[in-house]
Amino acid sequence: MEDLLSGNARFREKNAAEITKHAEGQKPKQMCICCMDSRAVPHLVFDQPLGTMFAQTNAGNVVTETFRGGAAYAVLHGINEIDVVGHTRCGAISATFDWIAKGKEIADPDIKAIANLLKPAVEEAVKQLKAGKLETEEQAKDLASRINVKNQMRSLMRNETVRKKVESGEVKIYGGLYDIKSGKLEKIAEREKAHRKLVSA
Ligand SMILES: [Zn+2]
Repeated sequence: MEDLLSGNARFREKNAAEITKHAEGQKPKQMCICCMDSRAVPHLVFDQPLGTMFAQTNAGNVVTETFRGGAAYAVLHGINEIDVVGHTRCGAISATFDWIAKGKEIADPDIKAIANLLKPAVEEAVKQLKAGKLETEEQAKDLASRINVKNQMRSLMRNETVRKKVESGEVKIYGGLYDIKSGKLEKIAEREKAHRKLVSA
């Protein structure tokens, strides 16, 4: 807590005007759903100031029931874009890879629950690795991150409020991949009214 208290004091000193400006309400334009990885912190790496972006993070950027609820709230609040962003060198993907490809069990049941949600993406990547379409484990894990982003974009559409907003054209859903090595965000997929299916960028 001490690090947070001292950091917060620095933050308040630097941003007094911004804090006051947003105190009465918020009007964010978008929501970012991303991993909790400490190297891919959304407002920091995408340079989004206070009041501009909702963010939901968890291990592996999995769109769970509660995340769908958060997204529904955000679209009703007037956002016009949801960005599902995965990243390279993801620990959650890596643990799931070790379980699927190497049989390394995940003892903690709650971590296993996350791995189960990442499993379809990892299984597909492991299949491609075993078929010789990929050269290294790192490539397979990063491919799993990409596939997972698209799977989680589909999961968002299971919420009726979100789906209606996308189908009416008021909200777009994008998928992205953040590269831990270069710090670069790549757009990898999109879903909007014009195409009911997911389109790779
Ligand atoms: Zn991660």
